[in-house]
Amino acid sequence: MASSMAKIAGSQVAQEVTAKAMDICGGRGYLKDYPLEKYLRDARVLSLIEGTNHIQKAVIASLL
Ligand SMILES: Cc1cc2nc3c(=O)[nH]c(=O)nc-3n(C[C@H](O)[C@H](O)[C@H](O)COP(=O)(O)OP(=O)(O)OC[C@H]3O[C@@H](n4cnc5c(N)ncnc54)[C@H](O)[C@@H]3O)c2cc1C
Repeated sequence: MASSMAKIAGSQVAQEVTAKAMDICGGRGYLKDYPLEKYLRDARVLSLIEGTNHIQKAVIASLL
């Protein structure tokens, strides 16, 4: 249960942080000239790989 919770929290923080970085950098953050657009995509996929966050929530619910 703890690892499922940590996986959800970590992937959510990664998405929040990279979204805020995109806000700070503006349009440049979207360009492939800079690494941020990859960081944003990588952060998004963290909620899908190694068991989606939906599945993690189902795991947590089944253990409660
Ligand atoms: C870049 C990348 C790297 C990857 N690397 C690896 C790797 O190294 N090793 C490995 O083993 N796999 C890897 N994968 C596969 C990854 O683990 C799967 O994509 C992931 O488990 C989701 O499975 P799926 O894509 O078949 O989605 P599906 O199972 O088809 O799910 C589609 C959607 O339906 C939802 N869903 C499905 N079932 C339920 C349910 N019962 N309740 C609620 N919602 C549900 C999911 O949350 C998701 O949003 C990788 C995938 C990507 C994109």
